[in-house]
Amino acid sequence: MDQVNKANMPVLDHFWMPFTANRQFKAAPRLLAQAEGMYYTDADGNPVLDGTSGLWCCNAGHGRKAITQAVERQLATLDFAPTFQMGHPIAFEFASKLAANAPGGTDAKLDRIFFTGSGSESVDTALKIAIAYQRSIGQGTRTRIIGREKGYHGVGFGGISVGGLVNNRRIFPQIPADHMRHTLDIERNAFSKGLPRAGVELADDLERLVQLHGAETIAAVIVEPMSGSAGVILPPVGYLEKLRAIADKHGILLIFDEVITGFGRLGTPFAADYFGVTPDLITTAKGITNGTIPMGAVFASREIYDGLMTGPEGAIELFHGYTYSGHPVACAAGIATLEIYEKEGLLTRAADLAEYWQEALHSLNGLRHVADIRNLGLVGAIELTPREGSPGARAYEVFADCFKNGLLIRVTGDIIALSPPLIIEKDQIDTIVSVLEDALKRAS
Ligand code: PMP
Repeated sequence: MDQVNKANMPVLDHFWMPFTANRQFKAAPRLLAQAEGMYYTDADGNPVLDGTSGLWCCNAGHGRKAITQAVERQLATLDFAPTFQMGHPIAFEFASKLAANAPGGTDAKLDRIFFTGSGSESVDTALKIAIAYQRSIGQGTRTRIIGREKGYHGVGFGGISVGGLVNNRRIFPQIPADHMRHTLDIERNAFSKGLPRAGVELADDLERLVQLHGAETIAAVIVEPMSGSAGVILPPVGYLEKLRAIADKHGILLIFDEVITGFGRLGTPFAADYFGVTPDLITTAKGITNGTIPMGAVFASREIYDGLMTGPEGAIELFHGYTYSGHPVACAAGIATLEIYEKEGLLTRAADLAEYWQEALHSLNGLRHVADIRNLGLVGAIELTPREGSPGARAYEVFADCFKNGLLIRVTGDIIALSPPLIIEKDQIDTIVSVLEDALKRAS
């Protein structure tokens, strides 16, 4: 890999950075300049082990030549074409490939695919489909959506309405939504390996909200089967099954937001497969193109699709779509990505590594400041006790220390989140753990 030239440091003033303390960052920037395999290279030319798959998206690692070639070929063949009242072959081809791996048995398969440009767009799309479907089957009063405390569903107005991270929604108007309680319950589940055993009764909160608002007002409930952005909150054993049963009882659609868990993070195609619970709609993005070209997709059940295909012949069934829905270049990247996942057996690889990953992470149990360790598939979280009077400061210190020592982690508040590419080797897992251990020991 070429040496990165520091003289290339760009002017930083103009890019208004997302979800970033801009002034703090620009005073001491961290720039990632190149990437290959499991590693980034920073602007000084130092390697940085990717402990987060970028932002939960580069599941097959970086610099995948097959994706580059597919994108180059597609750009040269058909760079863009609309999908409104028009089509192009590769969008249909990619949708069919995605459909082949969709969860659900033959009757309940979620194999109708609506393309979007991101996770946030997938969420807004799924919410609209849910409300439109209810209306089309004569349930037009069902317009409310139930989300969950601490849920993250992107930053569109739909997503923040159903999302439960307070900072993301506090100052903005929202669509009618309400939130189930979902606490971490560290007290009962601290350091549990894999799924927490206590807390299935939290699902009963959905029943409470149904009674409060009336089932006839509720279109859907949306949850991340495993929430990532709030700091890796795992569903207690039996929780998702219970949500499914309550939703079924009241004619409420169940939406799984799998923007993080889709495409192998838990060692299965989707979290729905991992848990054996089939929702009615699944939102995806990120790993769909290995993070290379922005794209998302909503997987809908045939029942929902068919339910919306009932208007007069020739009429548009769903007034919704994006210029970039099914963008040909993103589809090419997506097809190449699926081929890599399949040819290299990356999902099985993730499943096989999960136990090694679990034991490696839990070896940090007992270190000062460590309040909890959680893991599932190739996801991990280390929760720290907050520093008196400055929540988040301790984890940020560990984050900066790790980066200086060649490891990229992610922090949310005082929770460190880990989600390495599925190509990770055992010795690289050991490196993640030892760099973290040193940083934790140094943390004040
Ligand atoms: N839903 C979930 C569960 C996510 O984790 C994210 C992004 N981290 C989103 C939606 C939003 O995706 P995007 O940033 O691509 O809009």
